[in-house]
Amino acid sequence: MLISNRVKNLNPYVPGEQPKDRDYIKLNANENPYAPSPKVQKAVMDFVNTRPEKLGLYPDPDSLELHAAIADMLNKCGGVLCRAKVSGDNVQPADQDKLPFTVTPDMIYTGNGSDEVLSFVFYAFFDSSKHFVMPQFTYSFYPVYAGFYNIPMDQVPLKEDWTLDTDEMLKRASKNEGGIIFANPNAPTGLGLTREQVRAMLKQASADEIFIVDEAYVDFGGESCISLLAEFKNLVIVRTFSKSLCGAGQRLGYIVANPELVNIVTTVKNSVNHFPIDAVAQVSGTAACRDVPYYVETSRKVADERDKFYNFLKDKGFYVLKSQTNFLFAKHSAIPGDELYQKVKAQGLLIRHFATKGIEDFVRITIGTPEQMEMLKKVINAVVE
Ligand code: PMP
Repeated sequence: MLISNRVKNLNPYVPGEQPKDRDYIKLNANENPYAPSPKVQKAVMDFVNTRPEKLGLYPDPDSLELHAAIADMLNKCGGVLCRAKVSGDNVQPADQDKLPFTVTPDMIYTGNGSDEVLSFVFYAFFDSSKHFVMPQFTYSFYPVYAGFYNIPMDQVPLKEDWTLDTDEMLKRASKNEGGIIFANPNAPTGLGLTREQVRAMLKQASADEIFIVDEAYVDFGGESCISLLAEFKNLVIVRTFSKSLCGAGQRLGYIVANPELVNIVTTVKNSVNHFPIDAVAQVSGTAACRDVPYYVETSRKVADERDKFYNFLKDKGFYVLKSQTNFLFAKHSAIPGDELYQKVKAQGLLIRHFATKGIEDFVRITIGTPEQMEMLKKVINAVVE
């Protein structure tokens, strides 16, 4: 047999579909409907036009300029873009998001999308003897890494109201000396824990086990746990450019953590791929972080549209969770999730349906532009009527 037993047992992640049979309006992968800032577009064009020889050279393996720009952006917005206060070019965190310390570049590690970052984080902190605990419904890539790296995992059911059962997660983590991972706000529910709730968890969790909070969606209205890094050395925060920074095509993700943990993940990176961030992504990512006002505005537009669409779905008789993200998780008592997804697709719009037991009645709808959401409203009106 040519292939290894390891590969035979792999169970890869299934992303939101990207069909090619026609042009669809994509509301199925939690991408941002807005293009990156014009300053990002200009930076990339300038780079390609004025320094083309750089495309023939290896990029900075440590992405130092990018790390400094990310740290700076986090200090300006406090880790939650949609609430930051903007006056001209000046950006300040909302009072509730003020950080008790300055984020420094040595607290940042970047990778080729947060999927790759997460993969290296899993490799760095778990192995077959160091298991981890996660919610039953959360980002479905986590169990894939568990399979890939042969890490035992423990999936804890959500509570009836779809929130995390934090007590049970802590209990199971302490029983088996395991780490913890969850998305906050969580996916696909869109619900978040407050920073105080996460702090309470961290206080009870073992300081010797890793505690990972995936903040992919926090900029749309959650509470960032970056400030907790001052208190907890075992905390790793994972973030991405793919959602609030309108950059899914750039493949940029990062962690914010204490420098010792950043160094460990960097060692993993340097053992797999020395240069995960290409030269263009370093330029575009840096330019994005330097235009915080643009992303504060786009995050707000998405959050406003989300709240309007939440009300629309409620009026139409849907059960909808109150999301802090750029998507809504909803079900209708009379229309199965799969049927709704199919009917919407037939009209040229893609939303996400998971065939997973326990959430098969739901659909997950990414928030697009007001025009896109208007089109979806028309289709839903026709289906629900
Ligand atoms: N974390 C969560 C919770 C996500 O939903 C996603 C994207 N679907 C990711 C991480 C990965 O994002 P990316 O690789 O584009 O940075």
